[in-house]
Amino acid sequence: MAFDPVTLLTMSVVVLVALGATMLRLARGEGTCKLLCWSGAAFLCLGAGFIMLLAAPTDIHAPVRVLGNAALMLPYGLLWGAARRFDRRTAPFEVVSAGALAWLLAASLFDPSQGLRIALTSAIVAAYSVATMVEHRRGRDGLQSQRYASWIFAAHGGFFALRAVLGPTFGFGAWGADVAQVWGALLGLETVAVSVTVAVTAIGMSRERIAKDHRRDALEDPLTGIGNRRALDRSGLPLLDACRRAGRPACLLLMDLDGFKLVNDRHGHPAGDRLLVAFARLAHDYLPPNSLVCRIGGEEFAALVPAADLDRALAVADEIRALFAHIVLDHGTGPLRTTVSIGVARDRGGQGAASQGDLVELIGRADLCLYAAKQHGRDRVVADGVPAASGRSAA
Ligand code: GH3
Ligand code: MG
Ligand code: MG
Repeated sequence: MAFDPVTLLTMSVVVLVALGATMLRLARGEGTCKLLCWSGAAFLCLGAGFIMLLAAPTDIHAPVRVLGNAALMLPYGLLWGAARRFDRRTAPFEVVSAGALAWLLAASLFDPSQGLRIALTSAIVAAYSVATMVEHRRGRDGLQSQRYASWIFAAHGGFFALRAVLGPTFGFGAWGADVAQVWGALLGLETVAVSVTVAVTAIGMSRERIAKDHRRDALEDPLTGIGNRRALDRSGLPLLDACRRAGRPACLLLMDLDGFKLVNDRHGHPAGDRLLVAFARLAHDYLPPNSLVCRIGGEEFAALVPAADLDRALAVADEIRALFAHIVLDHGTGPLRTTVSIGVARDRGGQGAASQGDLVELIGRADLCLYAAKQHGRDRVVADGVPAASGRSAA
């Protein structure tokens, strides 16, 4: 395999500049993306570094070549910074530029031989690539594209670690000039392949993050952080269906805070918000972990509890009712408290898969029970077809 190094470098410059400009352009779109800004800048810097190498293709001691190598180190710091900024971590410029500065210091202090230059620059690239891989692995959103990015940087780091160790020996002794030529060609091709995959992955990561944010905005209640009405519609049916297929019961709790308008009137809207958050937290923490808890209206909440029969659901609902009655928040306008009424209904089961109609019917029965709880004086749990008990009453 023999490739003309000047042709490879020229091709790398064209690819890097095109990809860098594309990333910078895309970064200005919806929700400015630090990852694309930093990666785009890194690619343009890498392209500039290659142009400087092309300016002195044979004289490794030429100042423009020393600067060119520094311009090739800086982008790896920028790509590390890009990975950190993507996850809203800091990227100190001292660390970003440390590799380029270390190279400039070494080149000005003792004018390293070609072998040492290869070892030093490759070690810097390998170190940044491994650090970038670690940052992508730490990604807090668990994005598929970010895991892929970590593999690319792992492979790139491994390739340059190998070059740092073996590169200086190529062209000498047993290896001969042919091996050095093959290695040079591999290096050029690897640069192009990694540039393209890193750019595509960076664009993929920013798109995946935007899609995830939109999905969260669509399904999450911003005040309490639990699901909203749409989340119940979307996730309730699969959950109900899974229970039916497994031959397990499922119950739905419909919970409405009592006299909430009065709370707002007495203490103000922000105080009411605090109570809503407190109730959502209580319901979320107290219900079984696989339950679907959503805020479906102003002060109305629904919870689909899988694998729970009516007795179990009733007991949990009554615990929530009793615990909420004891929550008193400290507020400037006086103690802030209210109670909750809860309606409980059990899925009737049936042949085959659950339908949207089954979910609507279940919510409807729980709603009738909730209405009955309000009619019987509030602060109580009413379950579909269950006789009255202490703190509860029958529909
Ligand atoms: P009931 O016991 O019959 O349920 O009476 P209620 O006052 O709780 O019910 P009503 O439907 O009359 O009032 C509900 C109130 O909830 C009215 C509305 O201002 C308030 N509300 C709705 N959404 C929010 C919200 O996001 N924050 C606050 N603070 N209040 C809200
Ligand atoms: Mg209410
Ligand atoms: Mg209501």
